[in-house]
Amino acid sequence: MNPLDAILKPKSIAVVGASRREGSIGREILHQLLEFNFHGKLFPVNPKADFIHSIKAFPTVSAIPDPVDLAVIVVPREEVLGAVDDCGKKGVTGLVVITAGFAETGEEGKRFEARLGERIRQYGMRMIGPNCMGVINTDPAVRMDATFAPTLPLTGRIAFMSQSGALGIAILNIARQLDIGFSYFVSMGNKTNVSGNDLLLHWEDDPQTDLILMYLESFGNARRFMQICRRISKRKPLLVVKSGRTEAGARAASSHTGALVARQGLDVATDALFEQCGVVRVNTVEELFDLALAFSKNPLPRGNRLGILTNAGGPAIMATDAAIARGLSMANFSERTRHELRRLLPPEASIQNPVDMTPQSDRSKYDACARILLEDDGIDMLLVVFVPPMLINAMDIIRGLEQLRPKYLKPVVGVIMATDDFFVELNRDYPNHMALYIFPESAVNALVALDRYRVWREKPVGEVKRFDVRNGMAEDLIQECRRQGRGQMTAEESLRLIGCYGIPIAQSTAAANPEEVERVAEGLRYPVVLKAVAPDLVHKMDAGGVLVDIRGPEELRAAVQRMTESVARYRSDKGGTGSLGFLIQEYVRGGREVIVGMIHDPKFGPVVMFGLGGIYVETMKDVVFRVPPLTDLEAREMIQQIRGYSLLRGVRGEQPVDHEALADVLQRFSQLAEDFPDIAEIEVNPLLVFPQGSDFRAVDARVRLGS
Ligand code: ADP
Ligand code: MG
Repeated sequence: MNPLDAILKPKSIAVVGASRREGSIGREILHQLLEFNFHGKLFPVNPKADFIHSIKAFPTVSAIPDPVDLAVIVVPREEVLGAVDDCGKKGVTGLVVITAGFAETGEEGKRFEARLGERIRQYGMRMIGPNCMGVINTDPAVRMDATFAPTLPLTGRIAFMSQSGALGIAILNIARQLDIGFSYFVSMGNKTNVSGNDLLLHWEDDPQTDLILMYLESFGNARRFMQICRRISKRKPLLVVKSGRTEAGARAASSHTGALVARQGLDVATDALFEQCGVVRVNTVEELFDLALAFSKNPLPRGNRLGILTNAGGPAIMATDAAIARGLSMANFSERTRHELRRLLPPEASIQNPVDMTPQSDRSKYDACARILLEDDGIDMLLVVFVPPMLINAMDIIRGLEQLRPKYLKPVVGVIMATDDFFVELNRDYPNHMALYIFPESAVNALVALDRYRVWREKPVGEVKRFDVRNGMAEDLIQECRRQGRGQMTAEESLRLIGCYGIPIAQSTAAANPEEVERVAEGLRYPVVLKAVAPDLVHKMDAGGVLVDIRGPEELRAAVQRMTESVARYRSDKGGTGSLGFLIQEYVRGGREVIVGMIHDPKFGPVVMFGLGGIYVETMKDVVFRVPPLTDLEAREMIQQIRGYSLLRGVRGEQPVDHEALADVLQRFSQLAEDFPDIAEIEVNPLLVFPQGSDFRAVDARVRLGS
């Protein structure tokens, strides 16, 4: 038995706090359970009533003679713990706590919730809520609507979880109007015990569910979510509205990575996470339903070649523009298709894609043309546009398409520019009809989502490599820094740290002062680079703290002199004091500058970034984000997804940068980010990259430890 079965597939339910009072939640829940014909036994619990809704009531759960699987609790907050104890005595294992007034209300509520959570664990129960609007299972063998939403759900194959109760009510209402049915609906509330991840696991193998929709405001455990979704999305599409821009925890960002993340919020990380686990992210509930329609009524396309059939030019042109802009391709028709269309349609019709049949086309024309297009192997999906002219019955057109559609394993969606009345009539006469939209862009948007999901399904999974690294040495470096009470590692230490993970670094020598530079000057291999080292010099270039291509000891002395002066000038402008140290580094000539960064958000975990590097990172903002652990495929994708990718591929006969070596660096970096959750930020900028991986050199790095 699945651990959530007591909640989601109960054979008997007690409603604790059931009431006769009109408008009370305790009445509404009982009412909905009855209205929806709950398939099991129902027990109202209320110490003050003998019967409710003509059903015998019990004073307590433990007074019920029959076994009880699920208790739905609607009593006031102060009585919830007592009710839980009563359920415990009875051996109830599933709870849905509707009652509000917990963590969502502040400190006192948080304490209540902590106690509730603790109690539930002690009894080994599972609980949805508190502060939720209930659960639904439409399975004919269960038929449970334990919500206080006034709309009764339609049966379907979509499971829905919502983190907002109010929105949940609206969603049930809209879904009904749109003729969308559910297998399950769960309002998660505060997620004290049962999390979104638990529900996903429950639905993963659920035979009633083909498609999973989520409205999320926060992640409990983002990494676990990613693992679970990666697996499920290969079998069932997952559509998510994620609202609530997550503020980046790394506010005190001292790197480009931190600054870029802080500016955009953790939304970039959320996007990355969804993309990495095949979750389709949508921005609005409206879009969620648009996509749910297309996904639930269609097979996946085989490719991205779209055919459009219309009776009016305008909307078809809009659809074409939207399709091309979003990455679909307009199908080229076969010789045969063109021949048949020509034979069938009047001379003023267009037999190119989009096929414009002209306004007088009736059902027989639609039927015949749709059939021709669906037969064409060069077309992967079909969009049918119908602008109702007078005299031609839209319902007829739909009827025709409905008969045709099941014969072909291709997505077919429609755009009907009709009134609300039409759709009401349509849903009544043709429940479960094809996905229809009022506007062409919405229809195209849905097809694009189907196609992207197809690409995800076809994509190999990739592999997370574990590299042999010197993590003990890295740990020592971090501990030493902590012992000295420093949160910021020097550039030299930072380079050593990434070096422990096999990321190639420029040879570097630290010198605490000009005398130490003098001591090593004669023995160096020139040319070298001289850099200023001090805690206040975050971006050394700004202070004149980087001098390159120094050819010998004499030049090095002069460089030390010049750098000391420019840093002094910089400090007198900006403020800043302290001793000035130096770093002498091999000079790495040529190469492309890239940046590899990581921030560790306290809630979200590590996020890695890759992009074009150097001193213009924040100006160019040409970076992409991913959530580690990175697979080999994801590392390669990161490289190819930056806007300036052509610079790495090579322009005008240049040799391409060694992609494999670069992907290798990214994966090693990802391992580093994962191994040390106490590192708040790492930034390697620049890493100089070349056509030969063996020439790669990181020349600057900064590591900030978490507090
Ligand atoms: P900061 O980022 O603190 O200003 P960097 O050490 O990144 O200082 O140096 C700034 C720029 O100087 C780099 O982007 C790179 O173009 C160049 N540079 C730094 N070190 C080297 C080196 N060892 N070899 C070649 N160029 C270098
Ligand atoms: Mg730098």
